[in-house]
Amino acid sequence: MRAQFLPFHEPLLGEEEIASVVDCLRSGWLTSGIKVKEFERDFSAYVGCQHALAVNSCTAALHLALEAVGVGPGDEVITCPMTFTATAAVIEHLGARPALVDCERSTLNLDPSLIEARITPRTRAILPVHFGGQSCEMDTILGIARAHGLPVVEDAAHALPTRYRGRMIGTLGDVTCFSFYATKTVTTGEGGMAVTDRADLAERMRLMHFHGMSRDAWKRYTQNGSWSYEILAAGYKYNLTDIAASIGIHQLRRAEAFHVRRYRIARMYSEALSVVRGVEVPKVQDEGGHAWHLYVLRLVPEALTIDRDTFIARLVAMNIGVSVHFIPLHLHPYYRDKYGFAPTDFPNACEAFRRSLSLPIYPKMTDGDVQDVIDAIRSLAEEHQR
Ligand SMILES: *Cc1c(COP(=O)(O)O)cnc(C)c1O
Repeated sequence: MRAQFLPFHEPLLGEEEIASVVDCLRSGWLTSGIKVKEFERDFSAYVGCQHALAVNSCTAALHLALEAVGVGPGDEVITCPMTFTATAAVIEHLGARPALVDCERSTLNLDPSLIEARITPRTRAILPVHFGGQSCEMDTILGIARAHGLPVVEDAAHALPTRYRGRMIGTLGDVTCFSFYATKTVTTGEGGMAVTDRADLAERMRLMHFHGMSRDAWKRYTQNGSWSYEILAAGYKYNLTDIAASIGIHQLRRAEAFHVRRYRIARMYSEALSVVRGVEVPKVQDEGGHAWHLYVLRLVPEALTIDRDTFIARLVAMNIGVSVHFIPLHLHPYYRDKYGFAPTDFPNACEAFRRSLSLPIYPKMTDGDVQDVIDAIRSLAEEHQR
C-alpha cells in the first residue's frame, strides 16, 4: 500500500506562473488589464476562434452565453442530467427551465437521438456538455439545432483540448465555455473563457461581463482613457483579474504537454484494467481527441461483492484519492422537487452514477503513482469477486 495519500487532483504550476504573478503584483495593476488581453489573444489563437472573453468562472461564461443568445423567463434549454449543477443553475438564473435529455450509456454525453422529442415552442437553446473531455456528437447536434433555428452553447469545462473529428472544441457551436477552476485541465485558480465566432454574441457578452458598461476599466484608467462611461444594461461582475490571467497565460502554453501526459495515463489505466474482472474501462471512439480531464471507471455490480461506495471507501483507506462524476441533476433535492423527477426518468445517467468512480489523472502524477492506483484497484476487485 502507498505510504502517502495520492490526492484525486493537484494542479501543476511552474516557476513561470509564479514569476508572472509576482510581475503582476509589482506592476500595480491587479484587475482586468493587459494580462487579460494577452490571455484572451493566446486563447483564441490556440482554439482557433474569432473572439475570446476571459471571465471569472465557466459558470459566468455559461450565464453570459445563454443571456446573449436570448434565453429568458419561460424559455427551455435542452441539456443533460449528467453534469455539474452550474450547467443548469445558469438556466434557472435567467428564469428558464432545463429540459433534460438522458445521456448515452457509453459516453455519458447528451444522447442526440433524444433531442428532437424534447424540442417545444419554448426551446431557446441546446447546451451539450462534453463529459470528461470527450466530445459530444456535434455534427448531429448542430444539424438538429440548425433545422430548428436554435443556438448551441457548449459546456466545455472538461474539454481543453478536445478535438471532434479533428476540429477543436471552441470552433463548433455558437458559444463555447471553458473552465479554469483549480481541478480542471488548465487552471487559474478560478476562471473561465467564453469563445465565439459571432461578433454580435461577443459584443453582448463583453458588455454584460462588466456591469453593462460602455468601456472597461483598462480603457478608463490608462493615460489616454477617459473617466466617462455609460451603463447600457444591468450587467454582471464577471471579469477575470490580471493576477489570474498571469497564471493562465503560462498554463495555456503547457496545455498540449499536459494533454499528452493525461493521454498516456489513460492508456496505462485502460491497458492494465481492461483485463480485471469486475471493472469496465471507458469506451472511447477517438482516444487522441479526448481531453482526458476525467477517467471514469465503472464497476460491474454482478461480478463484485461490494458496492461502489464501499469500493471507494476501501480505495481511500489504501491512500488513493478518487471522486464521482456526477450525481445526476435530477437526483438533487432542488431539481428533483422543483420538477418532480424520479430516478428512473433518466436511467442511463442514474445507472452510470451508481457504478462509476473517477480515478486520479493529472500531469503531476508519476508512473509509480499510476501503478499504485492500478494495483489497488486490481487487488480490491480480486479480493471481492462474486
Ligand atoms: C467545473 C464545471 C463547471 C463550472 O466551472 P467553474 O469554472 O467552476 O464555474 C461547469 N460545468 C461542468 C461540467 C464542470 O465540471
